[in-house]
Amino acid sequence: MTKTARLAKDTQKLQAGSATEDDIRPTDIVFNCPHCGHSLCIDCRGAGLLTNCTECSEEVLVPIPDGMTVEDLDLTPEQTMGQLFYTRRMLARAEQRIAELEEVIASLKDRRSAMEKARLTTLHHCADIANLCQVVQERQGEIATALSRMLEIIAREQQH
Ligand SMILES: [Zn+2]
Repeated sequence: MTKTARLAKDTQKLQAGSATEDDIRPTDIVFNCPHCGHSLCIDCRGAGLLTNCTECSEEVLVPIPDGMTVEDLDLTPEQTMGQLFYTRRMLARAEQRIAELEEVIASLKDRRSAMEKARLTTLHHCADIANLCQVVQERQGEIATALSRMLEIIAREQQH
């Protein structure tokens, strides 16, 4: 029999626990950790909340079973408020993370356009050098022609 880890839950901070399959109640939510695949179960009131896997300690989102409604949770007003604050803290944290990632994207875009500019400058320099090489090549041809003409003149003079 595979062992399913029980995730014990309170409305503020979710704590990890452990249970055998015999201890799983019909109202429990059983799911696999998306990170390590370990089998996890939690009281149905944990639906939609974040907790940590007992096996790999990664943060996992407890799935909300199909057809489950808020009324099924049967929470006291205090628990509902606790969950609401917890959810809002998570939302604020996610929004902060989004803002941080947007800054990262902006700085990556800046770096990319700077690199693109540097690349264009390098291409221009290469074109300049290629033109200069061609000029040298042409001058070399002229020098070779002049040299052979000089040699012809010397040869002619030597025959007289
Ligand atoms: Zn895990």
